[in-house]
Amino acid sequence: MKKFFERLAEKKILVSDGAWGTELFKLGLRAGECPELWNEQNSTEVFAIAKKYIDAGSDIISTNSFGGSPVKLSHYNLQSKAYELNKTAAEISREAAGDKLVMGSIGPTGKFLMTGDISAEELIDSFTLQVNALLDGGVDAILLETFYDIDEAECAVKAVRNFPDVPLICSFTYDRNSSGEYRTMMGSTPKDILQAMITLGVDVVGVNCGGGYNNMIDLVKELRGFSHNIPILVQPNAGLPETVEGKIVYSETPDVIANSVKSFLSIGVNIIGGCCGTTPEHIRTIRKIVDDFLLNQ
Ligand SMILES: [Zn+2]
Repeated sequence: MKKFFERLAEKKILVSDGAWGTELFKLGLRAGECPELWNEQNSTEVFAIAKKYIDAGSDIISTNSFGGSPVKLSHYNLQSKAYELNKTAAEISREAAGDKLVMGSIGPTGKFLMTGDISAEELIDSFTLQVNALLDGGVDAILLETFYDIDEAECAVKAVRNFPDVPLICSFTYDRNSSGEYRTMMGSTPKDILQAMITLGVDVVGVNCGGGYNNMIDLVKELRGFSHNIPILVQPNAGLPETVEGKIVYSETPDVIANSVKSFLSIGVNIIGGCCGTTPEHIRTIRKIVDDFLLNQ
């Protein structure tokens, strides 16, 4: 487990990976199908995605387990397979990664504590099973990503903390409101989130998904302004998704994101990759910019 912190200290900036869902759709995943079931039924394709990111220059890749909590898998009546689907997800990325790092991806459940949809205990139990399976599959860290509710994230953090010394990254999604300020879906500010996460003992705070690379620069500046030393992960979407001729497309190509990536590095991010719509080509571009940046420091 120390490997993650050692690698971060040694390399200063880690390049992570890009989208998994977008790549799975390219390989034939259909809308309404459970992506995590592919770990069992189409493991060759899942491995190919992981390998493409490693080949593109990722220092740390994710796992195909974003929706792998038992609560989320219950939408497909697959909750009883949660342990094996997550463990397999971790094993596939582990094998593709070689000596590079793997972070086990965990997304929100889609249920809300506030409305009484689910209890904190149920959430903690669900996340605990997922974390356990990912660790058994060999991940080096846990990535809680695309969270929007501090209370749900707190349950996920508690689940991870059942396993001592596991490096924990917690990443939230923000949108700009009509005044141009960043807020999560539940109305929390970046400062609220940062303080809550620091109090909970998260190792790395993150921002991911959202409106694209350029749109997130001020957000990352804001976070860095509140804390000069906490490591920051940034994984934006390749712009906002648009539907063209029935297909979802993203406008931010690798060339488009280059200047924003440089801005993120100047602000002082520690892990950088992409979310929805980003591809191995985006990661190749980021790899080159990070290498140039580190060379010129
Ligand atoms: Zn996304």
